[in-house]
Amino acid sequence: MSEAGEPTASELLAELDGIGRDARGGWSRPGFGPVATELRRWFATTAEAIGLNVAPDANGNLWAWWGEPADGAVVTGSHLDSVPGGGRFDGPLGVVSALVAVRRLRAGGFRAARPIAVLVFAEEEGSQLGVACLGSRLLTGALPADRARELAQEAGLDPDAAGRDDTALSRIGCFVELHIEQGRGLADRGAPIALASGILAHGRWRIAITGRGDHAGTTRMADRADPVVAAARVILQVEAAALAAPGARATVGRVEAVPGGTNVIASRVDLSLDVRAGDGAAVRALVARIEESGSLEAARNGCGFAIERSSWSDEVVFDVPLREELDRVLGGVPALPTGAGHDAGVLAAHRPTAMLFVRNPTGVSHAPDEHADDADVAAGVDALERILRRLAS
Ligand SMILES: [Zn+2]
Repeated sequence: MSEAGEPTASELLAELDGIGRDARGGWSRPGFGPVATELRRWFATTAEAIGLNVAPDANGNLWAWWGEPADGAVVTGSHLDSVPGGGRFDGPLGVVSALVAVRRLRAGGFRAARPIAVLVFAEEEGSQLGVACLGSRLLTGALPADRARELAQEAGLDPDAAGRDDTALSRIGCFVELHIEQGRGLADRGAPIALASGILAHGRWRIAITGRGDHAGTTRMADRADPVVAAARVILQVEAAALAAPGARATVGRVEAVPGGTNVIASRVDLSLDVRAGDGAAVRALVARIEESGSLEAARNGCGFAIERSSWSDEVVFDVPLREELDRVLGGVPALPTGAGHDAGVLAAHRPTAMLFVRNPTGVSHAPDEHADDADVAAGVDALERILRRLAS
């Protein structure tokens, strides 16, 4: 229940609907720039209205403190940026739920024994600078120093100040991120709320398939080394390899023919490859199979095959004692793994960290069809409020 006259989490979400709307559908909210500035201003205004002290850190993250910043705080939050054409819940749901939960604790006269803060991470989706969870990776020092400086510069941050922030890290006693579920785990179980058990191991690769550029009209079919045809074969191998590995996911999300002319046989095709599985060994084994069969398939069209890794994240297992404690607070809820990366996953290597998922009846994510019913949004706020109450007691 909301306090009289105060906006619910669903109503706060609706306040964001006009920001970053994409004419092609959904919302496009890059981590930096005018849309991000508008979102950050909204957050600061809303957090200040409930009595929190808002301050950015050197890595573009925004903190809203109940009282003065202090070490060992109970921190909750998520992100406000989105993928291009994303939905309205991924990220903002965790932020508005945190604000409402903290507002209710304050209104109810709760006396926190530990400081409490709401944290908004910058550029979680990596849609602007290509590095997912940028704010949390910078803060925890997960990126090499020169890369961190470069990215900070591109983001318009002070490159001398950005990077591992031990002061900020020590402020986080524990972190709880509420997030819309990005699958149908809860819908299938008929439950509104789950705790995350962990995050799948995840890597990204670039595949280049090289052929021979030529004329679409004069080159006989038998004489071609067409990398687009080879790419089609390779993509089918990616699917087959993933289907043969239980619980694994492999995706080719970008296909770019170079130079890309209608009457031109391409000289090269660049593919992205995203692979996730229960642990790092399973991901590596799957990619090894893709490399082996992909090279063979490309060779059938006289094409070369090269693969290069561009990012890697080990599997995350969220803090078990914390998860067990939260499970008791919530009276027993499902525990679900997820294949999506989160700032909570980055922080999990440094601090006790947990995630709460809210049911998404469509199961769709990173697209406008993602959804949470108002009743489930409210259940998420209730759960988060109970968790904060316990952790800060
Ligand atoms: Zn998210």
